[in-house]
Amino acid sequence: MAKKETSGSKSVITKTSMQFLKNYHNNPSPVGFEYSGQKIWLEYLKQYVDTTFVDPYGTAVGVINPKAPFKVVIEAHADEISWFVNYITAEGLLYLKRNGGVDHQIAPGQRVFIHGKKGMVKGVFGWPAIHTRLGNPDVKDPQPKVDNLFLDTGARTRKEVEDLGIHIGSVVTYQDGFDELAHDYYIARAFDNRIGGFMIAEVARLLKENKKTLPYGLYVVNAVQEEIGLRGAEMIARRIKPDIAIITDVTHDTYTPMVNKMIEGDVACGKGPSLAYGPAVHNKLLNLVQDVAEKKKIPVQLRTVSRSTGTDTDSFAYANDGCPSVLISIPLRYMHTTVEMLHKSDIEQTIQLMYETLLTLTPKTNLSYL
Ligand SMILES: [Zn+2]
Repeated sequence: MAKKETSGSKSVITKTSMQFLKNYHNNPSPVGFEYSGQKIWLEYLKQYVDTTFVDPYGTAVGVINPKAPFKVVIEAHADEISWFVNYITAEGLLYLKRNGGVDHQIAPGQRVFIHGKKGMVKGVFGWPAIHTRLGNPDVKDPQPKVDNLFLDTGARTRKEVEDLGIHIGSVVTYQDGFDELAHDYYIARAFDNRIGGFMIAEVARLLKENKKTLPYGLYVVNAVQEEIGLRGAEMIARRIKPDIAIITDVTHDTYTPMVNKMIEGDVACGKGPSLAYGPAVHNKLLNLVQDVAEKKKIPVQLRTVSRSTGTDTDSFAYANDGCPSVLISIPLRYMHTTVEMLHKSDIEQTIQLMYETLLTLTPKTNLSYL
């Protein structure tokens, strides 16, 4: 067993798992091209599960008790929002398409990696200088939009771009990585939702290290392609056909400026995992999770979703003949920017809530509505 970190009275995250968290988040995992991230994830997870497999589009799964007929899933998504190279100008600049809900407003001035045939190439989002923008009274101050954002790699012709191995369809990710701020806050790009992949792996680690046996098969699922429509979860839900699914993803901390609590609800970093009410969320399973939280003194924050959760919960709930599903979210600031921010205590409490919920579930858990 790895040595526990000294900070915090009941730290779940160890030195080894912290190293995994950093490596996993510093590695790019763009939507549709998640392989290298999945490799890092499986490499860490495999010591804590009985077997692993990968589906045709790259969703990675670790299984405990693979022969058990009753199946429970804990799930996160592995993909990271990114860009696609869409057009290369004669002068060697690159125009892009979104690959997932990447935010055009934060792009100017950012450093990127372009994933080409010859490996990663460095580039930047260029932007006209404030002097040249304001110096021309006939032109309104331009706002960044997908059709005016461009990348500069240093190449000055299309041929020079192609010589770098860059092609139409190369994916582009930001360079920013993991860092720590004061008061136990962490930042990284794509905490959405690789922190979920980290947390479900930690749940598997705790089960193994605490020598817990489960009366069912546990499928630890890191799904691809969530950011473009919950697609990886859709595929893997059909393959596994689970009886119960516990999904984890990020949700908005609503205490930052320009967010309306009347619309977005009341959720803050550092106050524990957030549980969502919504038609796709199974009420009895949600009650069970709330009871576990109360019994184990894990604070939770409530919110509601409307027609859909907008997470892989929908894919699992509505898969096959219907699968009781619940969403346990971790509060996060600045979603889909390069400085997504979350609090260490929320990571630990979300892990604990999933872990304790799994210890409570059995194939006989009554989830029937009537
Ligand atoms: Zn997202």
